[in-house]
Amino acid sequence: MKIIQEIYTNDDHQWAVIARDTQKPPYLIDTNEYVISIDSQLMLTDPGGLEIFAEVFTTLSESFDPTAIKYIFASHQDPDIVSSLALWLEVNPKLRCYISWLWSSFIPHFGGVEDTIIPIPDEGMKIQLGSKSLEVIPAHYLHSSGNFQLYDPQAKILFSGDIGAALLPPDNKNIFVENFDEHVQYMEAFHKRWMPSNRAKNDWCQRISNYDIDMLCPQHGSIFKGDDVKKFIDWFANLEVGITK
Ligand code: FE
Repeated sequence: MKIIQEIYTNDDHQWAVIARDTQKPPYLIDTNEYVISIDSQLMLTDPGGLEIFAEVFTTLSESFDPTAIKYIFASHQDPDIVSSLALWLEVNPKLRCYISWLWSSFIPHFGGVEDTIIPIPDEGMKIQLGSKSLEVIPAHYLHSSGNFQLYDPQAKILFSGDIGAALLPPDNKNIFVENFDEHVQYMEAFHKRWMPSNRAKNDWCQRISNYDIDMLCPQHGSIFKGDDVKKFIDWFANLEVGITK
């Protein structure tokens, strides 16, 4: 069973995280899904794999109407990100999935019809959800060749995909990072191996420093909040990536 926790709320504007599957088989990587609700319209970020669809659906249904999911946002193409697409389309056949144009002819292998995918151009775009506008920020080669993040300027939340991801031991159930220095051990090897380009990494660190971010929310591991957001960006800027050890 997964945990659902509200991380931001302001009038009819809400973010919740669905995280930590306590009964997940050990051979599956754990994932975080985020639900954004604005004026009763829902967006689900990186909804997860086929294997965990039932847990995500049940947990989400405790607090939200799953048929109100209008959009899925997929940061990239990986199986733990979006292989559940066909099952979400059974919940709402009209939902649309935003993903990089680069993956727009690959992802239909997971399901959908001709207009299910909304291709995101390389430079990013804005997505209107209810009365608010969300910003899609390029993060190419971090780690996928067509890779995006989602920024909510009102909530000051950056959904960062695999950037900031940590592989936590099973007994660590922290939704938020509690001790940054201790947390580094769970993300160092992941970022060195999965982020292939120092150039792309440095460019992202520079661009993202211009954004006002209260919470950096990765697809695996704990959320960075407050001062830990800047600590993470500084740590990542100084890390050499694209190496196997
Ligand atoms: Fe990935």
